[in-house]
Amino acid sequence: MCIFCKIVKGEIPCKKIYEDEQNLSFLDIFPRATGHALVIPKKHCETFDQMELADLQSFIIAVQKVTQLLKQKLDAPAFNIISNNGALSGQEVPHLHFHILPRYATEKLSLHFPPVVQSAKERLDQIYAEIVEE
Ligand code: 5GP
Ligand code: ZN
Repeated sequence: MCIFCKIVKGEIPCKKIYEDEQNLSFLDIFPRATGHALVIPKKHCETFDQMELADLQSFIIAVQKVTQLLKQKLDAPAFNIISNNGALSGQEVPHLHFHILPRYATEKLSLHFPPVVQSAKERLDQIYAEIVEE
């Protein structure tokens, strides 16, 4: 069983900040920002694309509720939503989760988009065609 499924079952403790029937949110143990939280579906699913349609709406609503909670309670003026999907993206826990990173004027914004990939820029037309072709 994966580590987040163990948290859902209560076998590993967590600092829970939000819960509904299908979703759970708790603080990240290695916070990259003050109030860094994770939102997960309780049902195990590895990546966002694999999530069942029936579970999607409730999950996204839970994500929004957590962003509102963090903004209000921590007086955070901004936030990032980040989700790593698949090992090559940097996903370490193979149970779908959205990171919510509250942002403040007092904390350095340490996560940026990667720099422009020149080869992708040069092949933009070709890549576009690959995506949209039937
Ligand atoms: P990923 O790299 O998979 O996108 O992020 C996994 C996140 O889960 C990391 O930020 C890590 O700090 C967090 N994490 C890993 N194990 C635990 C745990 O047992 N409890 C909590 N609260 N967070 C965890
Ligand atoms: Zn799991």
